[in-house]
Amino acid sequence: MSDEANPFESLQEQIDDAAAFLDVPADVVSRLKSPERVLEMTLSVEMDDGTIEGFRGFRSQFNGDRGPYKGGIRYHPNVSRDEVKALSGWMVYKCAVVDIPYGGGKGGIVIDPRDYSESELERVTRAFATELRPFIGPDKDIPAPDVNTGQREMNWIKDTYEKLENTTAPGVITGKSLDNGGSEGRVEATGRSVMLAAREAFDYLGKEIEGATVAIQGYGNAGSVAAKLLEDLGARVVAVSDSSGAVFDPEGLDTRAVKQFKRETGSVTGYDDAEEEFSNDDLLTMDVDLLVPAALENAIDAELADQVTADVIVEAANGPVTPDADDILTEKEVTLVPDILANAGGVTVSYFEWVQNRQRFAWTEERVNDELERVIVDAFDQLVDAYEDKDLPNLRTAAYVVAIRRVADAFGGAGTWP
Ligand code: NAD
Repeated sequence: MSDEANPFESLQEQIDDAAAFLDVPADVVSRLKSPERVLEMTLSVEMDDGTIEGFRGFRSQFNGDRGPYKGGIRYHPNVSRDEVKALSGWMVYKCAVVDIPYGGGKGGIVIDPRDYSESELERVTRAFATELRPFIGPDKDIPAPDVNTGQREMNWIKDTYEKLENTTAPGVITGKSLDNGGSEGRVEATGRSVMLAAREAFDYLGKEIEGATVAIQGYGNAGSVAAKLLEDLGARVVAVSDSSGAVFDPEGLDTRAVKQFKRETGSVTGYDDAEEEFSNDDLLTMDVDLLVPAALENAIDAELADQVTADVIVEAANGPVTPDADDILTEKEVTLVPDILANAGGVTVSYFEWVQNRQRFAWTEERVNDELERVIVDAFDQLVDAYEDKDLPNLRTAAYVVAIRRVADAFGGAGTWP
């Protein structure tokens, strides 16, 4: 993985690339390239042995023109101010591309959660929620899970917020467990939209998804669910990886068995029924019909892009392809479905969760999945329309053209004040 590209600069470059095809005034574009507010904090938390440890935390509120800020919370040693700013901006354009009434935000703590006990993680999370409390709320900013956070952390944040506010407000956060106001279908939503995006892209290109070979980098929430649902469509998932390396079977892996193996052992490598193990870079350059990067940003840089041989890339991770790599892939005529559409299932079902929380009425899983499918298929069709109508270089530019237009219209319609 390259550490050269600054994700915030990548985001700004993507916005500039798309703005060139729009008649949005330069001063408005410039406003749409930087966050409205970034909170940076030091959390002082008592460890199990009685010592105090400081943790750096961030929350970036990028744009609220279309609705409350919305976006996940990441726990990772590489979390940085610029990474959080970039991820919050991608959320703005992701919500706009699928046309849900949210702005964009993102948060994170610089921490490797594997080094801490559950009670320490609970205290870190509650300290973070306490710092965030004045700035979040069902109508202000609604966090959600991201890398290394899940239902457990969301439940702690909701509980901390509700205790401090002396209220019940399940809509303050999404990605909660079902018994805490979560939604059916939320856990699988990101992987499901990756599958839907891949299905629509293959259909658009006149290719069969049944029997197509697939390689997936990253086997966490997004990657493993996408793998399972693609396998259910009849695709052959020949390789998957995590931070320990990649496993390969030309006949197709049993994606559920690999997941179970990872759950038991902590990694995909060592899985008995694989034919071979190799590196993540080997996986990214494999000759497959579909490549799904589902780990972290900057997975494919220019050097790797030169060697990519997949026909279609569907981005499950946020920002896995650097702008230089993007140019190379466009030149090589690789069809790439961008992150802001492909992984938008997570935020879309978060939106459904928030709607249900506000209505105090729970939907069935079938309703959630049907509504999600409608949103992703509509968004894909609108993206393809923009791509063809404006003769745009690639689907990423098309996604930003659609999204920037919507955010700029919301801003333009309301004007600026004070
Ligand atoms: P996760 O923590 O569940 O999984 C991440 C996976 O990536 C793990 O299997 C990890 O081992 C693997 N990984 C880390 N570094 C790697 C490397 N260098 N090479 C190969 N694998 C590596 O996280 P997730 O929730 O699945 O998120 C993955 C990506 O999807 C992130 O970019 C995240 O922002 C994005 N995303 C997630 C959601 C969601 O709802 N979970 C929604 C939208 C976008």
